[in-house]
Amino acid sequence: MPQSFEQIRNIYCVGRNYALHAKELGNEIPDEPMIFSKPTHSLHPAEGKLLLPGGVGEIHYEIEVVIRIASTYQQGASIEHCIDGIALGIDWTLRDLQTKLKEKRHPWLTAKGFIGSAVVTDFQPFTGIDSFERIEFSLIRNGQIVQAGSPKDMIFSVQQLIDFIGPRLGLGEGDIIFTGTPAGVGAIADGDSLELKLNVKNEGLGQTFGPLLIEMK
Ligand code: ZN
Repeated sequence: MPQSFEQIRNIYCVGRNYALHAKELGNEIPDEPMIFSKPTHSLHPAEGKLLLPGGVGEIHYEIEVVIRIASTYQQGASIEHCIDGIALGIDWTLRDLQTKLKEKRHPWLTAKGFIGSAVVTDFQPFTGIDSFERIEFSLIRNGQIVQAGSPKDMIFSVQQLIDFIGPRLGLGEGDIIFTGTPAGVGAIADGDSLELKLNVKNEGLGQTFGPLLIEMK
């Protein structure tokens, strides 16, 4: 496991933070952030082989920007003080199981928090909210772009997410937040190869992470 993973503590995730994605799953746009979490056992690097469960219905990819928290949350602290790293991640979802659990009004932890369900790339330094908003990210499946987005389209900004999570659930050094997925989520298949692309507009060459090779058993 990469060094940086050992420092990760709480894994928070934001649901429905891009309007077009909320729509594609037939959900309403939330009026406050929708937060869930994953166990740290769900962490997996964004390269090499990823074993996903087979025979459980559709498994959807959700590419997201991940932020890393630098220090204990303090109300009014600047965003540059709160965040020290950014990465890309995939919030894997057992979609059919999640639908079943939602229908039963049960927690969806087993559909979102299973082993390997939190793929995270290496972290890059956070260089301020300005360049954060210029991030363009995409997921490439077998050579084709299937999802693309930018944090400027988030319903709740990073500042709003931190101010929502911090006082309620706590935020401290080593916590990470999956900030939500743009439209275009879809089902993965055994043998697929994925790459995650990160680019900051007007800031030179982008970076590509992967390949991540999917094996379903
Ligand atoms: Zn997600």
